[in-house]
Amino acid sequence: MTYWLRCTDCGREYREGEVEYLCTACAGTGAAGTAPRGVLRIEYGKVTGAVPDESYSDSRRWHVLLPLRSPESMPPLPVGPTPLHRAERLGKELGLARLVVKDDTVLPTGSLKDRASSVVVAKARELGRDTITTASTGNAAVALAAMAASVGLRAVILVPKTAPIAKRTQMLVFGATVVPVEGTYDDAYALSLEATRVFGWYNRSTAYNPLTVDGKKTVAFEIWEQLGRKAPDAVLVPTGDGVILAGVHKGFGDLRDAGLVDRLPRLYAAQAEGSAAIVRSLDVEGEEVPGLARATTIADSISVGVPAAGRWAKRALRETGGGGIVVTDGEIVEAIALLGRTSGIFCEPAAAAAIAGARKAAREGLVGRDETVVVLVTGNGLKDVAAAERAVRMPEAIVPTVEALGEALGGELKPPMDTDGHR
Ligand SMILES: [Zn+2]
Repeated sequence: MTYWLRCTDCGREYREGEVEYLCTACAGTGAAGTAPRGVLRIEYGKVTGAVPDESYSDSRRWHVLLPLRSPESMPPLPVGPTPLHRAERLGKELGLARLVVKDDTVLPTGSLKDRASSVVVAKARELGRDTITTASTGNAAVALAAMAASVGLRAVILVPKTAPIAKRTQMLVFGATVVPVEGTYDDAYALSLEATRVFGWYNRSTAYNPLTVDGKKTVAFEIWEQLGRKAPDAVLVPTGDGVILAGVHKGFGDLRDAGLVDRLPRLYAAQAEGSAAIVRSLDVEGEEVPGLARATTIADSISVGVPAAGRWAKRALRETGGGGIVVTDGEIVEAIALLGRTSGIFCEPAAAAAIAGARKAAREGLVGRDETVVVLVTGNGLKDVAAAERAVRMPEAIVPTVEALGEALGGELKPPMDTDGHR
């Protein structure tokens, strides 16, 4: 669809293709160590055409609201729709009668990031670019690697060397050029921007490339459609750099602009205690989001010191009347097991942060018992099994006899006696 870009900070507008990444007037003007200024928002004006276009079954059905010349540019790996579960047993535990779980663990590479990578790779094809780079905590790079592989583009991935081994392995299996970086995600991010300038690659880094927000917004479109073309009351979003939150905000915003919803849901950012720059910034007046010197959390996907879309996320939390929730690593680990045993969904730690956040939101009365509350489950637990192992107790092996089995089950089951009184 034809579009233009508008700076989320100064409002300056650009034609499609006039600028690729940040607003040229705002980029680099913020104080050092704060969330960057100049993130661009994609604007469509009046929607012409059906939303969704029923002739497609995956995210191409939203092409009327995607920044692409043709839905056919999108990679062949189908993205969405993912299931929206009525999580009754989890809801009971949390005291929420209308809790629903949006399960993005089933996307092609197991995380919501497939939504953004699919759109960015489509754009690279339309622009005739052959190499795409990104910095990533892991999932975004895995998604880029897969989407690039499916259409034969080259992906150059910069990840902190501490990214979970399953994610690094996924990227390599997809044939990406993977370069582990000494340092944090923030260091990898800075390097990806410089490499883009020096080598002329196309950059997928999150928020820096405005298409990432627009790609992620399809999760909001699907929620709207699956709830019977209605917006929920609240959405809990696991939050690191703020781009998924911005994407959800943009998605419901696009639906409102198209006259399809009359209000936005309240958005809540669930952040890990050691990586909560956006939530902490809500106490700071104005739009500034001070970064952290160093982010630390077991939830690697949301371990971010200086959030790339921090200013947009902060605005979204305020504008929608939502807010921030901080959870500890202990609560995150517990929530992995809680979601698993009540719903049968295995999530990674970042997604569990939103489950733990939902528990807190219910306890603190941020969300009402009878409100429709959506929790975004953004990543598959198989991506970080080591973290999940902390949530369970691995049982010892037994000798293969029913007696030993009975004992292993805590003596609650005993094999019946035979006629001689023997077991
Ligand atoms: Zn600007």
